[in-house]
Amino acid sequence: YECLTCVDSVGKIITIANQKGGVGKTTTAVNLAACIAASERETLLVDADPHANATSGIGIQTPAEGRSTYELLVGDQSAAAIVQRSQMPYLSILPSHINLVGAEVELVAMDQRETRLRLALEPIRDRYDFILIDCPPSLGLLTLNALNAADSVLIPVQCEYYALEGLGQLLNTINMVKKRMNAKLDIEGVLMTMFDGRLRLSNQIVEEVRKYFGEKVFRSVIARNVRLSEAPSFGKPIILY
Ligand code: ADP
Ligand code: MG
Repeated sequence: YECLTCVDSVGKIITIANQKGGVGKTTTAVNLAACIAASERETLLVDADPHANATSGIGIQTPAEGRSTYELLVGDQSAAAIVQRSQMPYLSILPSHINLVGAEVELVAMDQRETRLRLALEPIRDRYDFILIDCPPSLGLLTLNALNAADSVLIPVQCEYYALEGLGQLLNTINMVKKRMNAKLDIEGVLMTMFDGRLRLSNQIVEEVRKYFGEKVFRSVIARNVRLSEAPSFGKPIILY
């Protein structure tokens, strides 16, 4: 299909993952969620990163005590109890909190430690057209939970030296998840971020990634843009900023 919102979707879950930090996961999660919501599709943004940048990026400073993705994964809060409306119609969020750092360790000893997010989202899934999950920069249990819960994974890749570094490991993890727990997991696509058309390097990297991923690379490329890096400090997605 030509674009995500050209198709009818019920509770399609897209995880945004890349274990490298600073490649544009959160920027993609926040702004894609806001744009899908702007097209009047009920959208849920799930912040699965203890840094909580997606949470603050859409304007929620600290979630109410005991109501974050930490309690969702490790405690006994339901998704319905912690979900919050954002400043945009059609856009809700399951906010994160720094205490989610502990989940990576606490989950190890828990039952269904790799499927807790999927189970938690199941009861509210059909309230939304799209659910986007923002991941931390690691391939630990939080990212595994997000991959297990997903229909597809969207991989942001920064137009930088070593763009392909670590992607082999990510693909191995995706294949392992497909084999063991979530056979339907699909690669939604690879999104080139922070593209600078004036740099030959940027163009070379896009070519290199296209050689490796072929048709899976989105035709749309995200340019480097100062406004995109300023918007989070105002708690606004780019279309409001
Ligand atoms: P990740 O979630 O993968 O760690 P972020 O989305 O937080 O990455 O992006 C890393 C940094 O780069 C942030 O400061 C963000 O504001 C900035 N950034 C991301 N995308 C762009 C872009 N297209 N243009 C300019 N700055 C960007
Ligand atoms: Mg991030």
